[in-house]
Amino acid sequence: MQAKGNLYSIVQHQLEKAAKAVNLSREVATILSQPKNEIIVHFPVRMDDNSYRLFKGYRIQHNNILGPYKGGIRYHEDVTLDEVKGLAAAMTWKSALHDIPYGGAKGGIKFNPRLHSKSELERITRRYTHALGSNIGPEFDIPAPDVGTNAQTMVWVMDTYMNVVGFHEKNAMRRVVTGKTIAAGGSYGRDTATGQGVVHCITEWARDRRFNLNGCSFAVQGFGNVGMHAAKILAKLGASLVAVGDYKGYITNPEGLNTHKLAEHVAATGSVEGYKHSKPITREEFFAVEADIFIPAALELEITEKEAKLLKCKVVAEGANGPTIPEAEEILLDRGVDVLPDILVNSGGVMVSYYEWLQNKRSERWELEEVEEKLEKRMKRTYGHVRDFAAERKLDFRTAAYAIGLGRIETAYSERGIFP
Ligand code: GLU
Repeated sequence: MQAKGNLYSIVQHQLEKAAKAVNLSREVATILSQPKNEIIVHFPVRMDDNSYRLFKGYRIQHNNILGPYKGGIRYHEDVTLDEVKGLAAAMTWKSALHDIPYGGAKGGIKFNPRLHSKSELERITRRYTHALGSNIGPEFDIPAPDVGTNAQTMVWVMDTYMNVVGFHEKNAMRRVVTGKTIAAGGSYGRDTATGQGVVHCITEWARDRRFNLNGCSFAVQGFGNVGMHAAKILAKLGASLVAVGDYKGYITNPEGLNTHKLAEHVAATGSVEGYKHSKPITREEFFAVEADIFIPAALELEITEKEAKLLKCKVVAEGANGPTIPEAEEILLDRGVDVLPDILVNSGGVMVSYYEWLQNKRSERWELEEVEEKLEKRMKRTYGHVRDFAAERKLDFRTAAYAIGLGRIETAYSERGIFP
């Protein structure tokens, strides 16, 4: 495996770059340079064979000046404190960029969920939730799915949390998590929201660049919730998926892969590997594939200098959080490749999380069309803000997106000051 950089220091670097571009006050930059709370828990879980195993879990609460802490929970064997800190900070900028009244947080447990049965996953999730205790809450810190977790995970978190609060409060506690199943109070359109948001950004980019999506080609790294839905939706617009890869391997078909059949294959086997109508390729060949659009939708720090030189696309649309290291972004921009940043591109998820939370708070259920319409409007509006801000100040899109978010946070701090 390639050595990975440190996501937290990269996020810090991007913060400093944007802070300089908009003359952010030193005071606010100082506050934002570290998360408010770093919670680390160790908890024992009984395995199916009756043995006990100790797990390490994190919840990093980066900032809550604009609203409750908000962000996903990741289950992955490579979870580290600095990774979760970086991801938590990215959530603060993401919410602020879209003017969603939330702060930023992220959680994680360091283990490989693929190696555990459903009942073990349930016990791990419930013990983690219990260990976090009142560190989460519907008006305080609201988790959601991320890499390695899904709607079922969120239902377990919700149920555990509900059962430790007072009897009469139980139903008001549903919104302690978002990204739940529909039956548990989840929102229509939440499962597809991140992928849909990615495609809204690509659509706006294509309009600005007078680029025809119908008949173009794209490649996706990662075929989980984000990559799979983005691919299906983009294919509906007439774009052709020519290469895809995940933790097991990479495949290609220059004639185009059927996104629905591929999704069925992944549901059955757990990976894109071995899909019939495709040819296996190496990771290097994957990055060098002829495709107009490249969507990293796997883990962070995947596009380093090496990959940036290989990519042949016109645009990189970051479905994943933190997929591109700064040196790689410079290479891409120098080569004339547009880079649409994560906090803009993958924000459809937290946007619809906010809609879910609002529905729960008001005891409402919105129609799918209503959710989709709202999501589209907000994604396109924010995309326009970033594009215009970038053009006005001669900034790249990432710096512009960070700067818009930072501006909102700075206003809140300058009005409120710090207590006492
Ligand atoms: N984990 C997702 C993200 O990174 C969703 C967060 C949320 O919905 O709170 O944006």
